[in-house]
Amino acid sequence: MSRKLIAANWKMNGSLAQCRDLLPPLAAAAQAKLPLVVCPPACYLPQTAELAKGSALRFGAQDAARQDAGAYTGEISAKMLLELGCSHAIVGHSERRIGLGEGDVMVAEKAQACLRNGIVPIICIGETQAEYEAGKTAEVVSRQVKAILDCIPVDQLVKCVFAYEPVWAIGTGLAATPEQAQAVHADIRQLLAAAGADVAACLPILYGGSVKPNNAASLFAMPDIDGALVGGASLVADDMLAIYQAALDTFSLA
Ligand code: PEP
Repeated sequence: MSRKLIAANWKMNGSLAQCRDLLPPLAAAAQAKLPLVVCPPACYLPQTAELAKGSALRFGAQDAARQDAGAYTGEISAKMLLELGCSHAIVGHSERRIGLGEGDVMVAEKAQACLRNGIVPIICIGETQAEYEAGKTAEVVSRQVKAILDCIPVDQLVKCVFAYEPVWAIGTGLAATPEQAQAVHADIRQLLAAAGADVAACLPILYGGSVKPNNAASLFAMPDIDGALVGGASLVADDMLAIYQAALDTFSLA
């Protein structure tokens, strides 16, 4: 199976009207050979399901609870996401790690909850600006990847997607250069090889952080960058379509 994938993270943006504007062009453009996954706020997932019907567009959530059901006010479980037709869920986004105190173990438990309910977790990792400036990128990414490897057995790990998102590049317009991103992606793949070289070779590692139409193709040309997790640009249909097209043009797809 191809490692390639493009995903959109709307964060807490959008409206019913914006769903009606943004989703039909994505549904028209999505091709089965390159999965395109849109992650709107959870309240818009039923409408997203409706608008994606009959197309190759896939959709997912921006988070998933660790538990499947119970007294967890405000939480949404992976089991519920599956019922809504979600294929994926982002877990461990830096805005949740930093803003809501989600630690490595919690992120791993959320990934486990996704996997036991048939949802593909898009596991976000990446260093903060301070960690980057202190030269700690490799250390941070290694800690985050190892927390996943410690909890998820190989037969489940092969169903995961990783997204390297340097926090200093998110929403800043300052994307990592293709070479910078490639170097970290290669390190991540090396870390994943602890679970087996064949496992590491098949796992998608997306890049996220200010991916735009003008830098997408150069990022996708890197051997260990398998796609993108797109934030701000995913709220502009033409930009998201241009990024998806850059991926279609750059990747060798079976
Ligand atoms: C994100 O939040 O996952 C992201 C990558 O955002 P942006 O593309 O806006 O930097």
